[in-house]
Amino acid sequence: MHLAQLTIHQLHEQLMNKTVSAEELCALHLERIDALDDQIKAYITVTKTEALATAKKVDEKIKAGETINPLAGIPMALKDNLCTKNIKTTCASKMLADFYPPYDAHVVEKLTAENAIVLGKVNMDEFAMGSTTENSAFFATTNPYDDDCVPGGSSGGSAAAVAADLAVYALGSDTGGSIRQPAAFCGIVGLKPTYGAVSRYGLIAFASSLDQIGPLTKDVTDCALVMNALAGYDKRDSTSVDTQYPDYLAALTGEVKGLRIGLPQEYFGEGIDPAIETQVKAAASLLEKLGASIEICSLPHTRYAMPAYYLIAPAEASSNLARYDGVRYGLRVNEKDVVNMFKATRNEGFGAEVKRRIMLGTYALSAGYYDAYYLKALKVRHLIKMDYDKAFERFDCLITPTTPQTALRKGQNADPLSLYKQDICTIPSNLAGIPALSLPFGLADGMPIGVQLLGRAFSEPTLLNIAYALEQNSELTRLKPNQGRGL
Ligand code: GLN
Repeated sequence: MHLAQLTIHQLHEQLMNKTVSAEELCALHLERIDALDDQIKAYITVTKTEALATAKKVDEKIKAGETINPLAGIPMALKDNLCTKNIKTTCASKMLADFYPPYDAHVVEKLTAENAIVLGKVNMDEFAMGSTTENSAFFATTNPYDDDCVPGGSSGGSAAAVAADLAVYALGSDTGGSIRQPAAFCGIVGLKPTYGAVSRYGLIAFASSLDQIGPLTKDVTDCALVMNALAGYDKRDSTSVDTQYPDYLAALTGEVKGLRIGLPQEYFGEGIDPAIETQVKAAASLLEKLGASIEICSLPHTRYAMPAYYLIAPAEASSNLARYDGVRYGLRVNEKDVVNMFKATRNEGFGAEVKRRIMLGTYALSAGYYDAYYLKALKVRHLIKMDYDKAFERFDCLITPTTPQTALRKGQNADPLSLYKQDICTIPSNLAGIPALSLPFGLADGMPIGVQLLGRAFSEPTLLNIAYALEQNSELTRLKPNQGRGL
């Protein structure tokens, strides 16, 4: 294993032992980005100067004999919808192609406080709308496992950067699966935390009742470490939950004896690749062997999650994206009067999928259709939440596929409806606000498979521990792209 393949916790040890310096580690990642990102195309912006300056600071601390934070000196990447002060934050949109935020997102502040090394900002679907990263206004990103496949989306740059060892870990955002689905497609760990566990202050909003920020990492321990830095109350996000946040690392005992795990039947069968189904069931059997009990259960409203999400998310997006009017910031296309300026700006600034969502959302919210579409979707959302509440009376965790298929092929994703259907396994947990983790578990035809763990609100410690138990007991959780391509 070369240095760039190591995890946060392994590299932390090396930094403390002085077998490598933060500056060397940072330079190594910058070199890899230089050499390999032409193939992968994960990065929109590389913040070389800032990264090296932080690395130097960490090295000085180490030299002075100070103990450093677990994330200090570890190079990472940020999805480009997280605001970074005076560093370009594009949301992969022409609308924000030259946007330099005047402040840092809450999570960026947290990482800065830990002396994390931000290597740069990574690609995504425009405004986080999509499942392939092909909706980026700038370029598409490649799946490190196969040049012809997408890395997933919308946090495709985050997942590809981590899988190709162009960052040790990354942050993404997840509104309907955008952390978990790319993590599954790229063979890494991704966690969407409980709604309210991580402040969205400084996250460019897509659908505010669904958006959460979370980690994409090389293993479960790293995921817990990043959660330790991210989770917590922040008064600048009105949905942030003021509660006692646990030590996620301490939860990783690997002990699953007596845990009750449900297999919701609606997540298996029609539409799910049989190879994925087999692998998820193999993960469940392994947990059973380790002392958990497994039982089939039912979440009867699951089939309505996709239509409900594709009304609620666009409705909220249509409202959130009203701010891009060419007046205060972002793109402005000058025209003879203000109304034409609005029109020209929005017409040029937004890509096709973003426009589609704005139109869908505006329609769903319009007088006469509000009750029939938006309100009904909210009722369905409640039923989905109740399905989970009921299941979690009996189970500590539910185990499902993360995606119905492995990584999609590039250039074949023009039909919006068939793409929307790809989100069936990830969307319900966003609607219910519960935490959900994707863990790599084997390959199908050479492409990674993701197993998803769902739990009740704030049960991240349980989910992380179950994932940890799988990781400790199965090689299938340790995937690596083909090294033959020089990655
Ligand atoms: N694929 C979903 C969508 O297009 C999820 C996006 C996300 O989670 N940001 O809306």
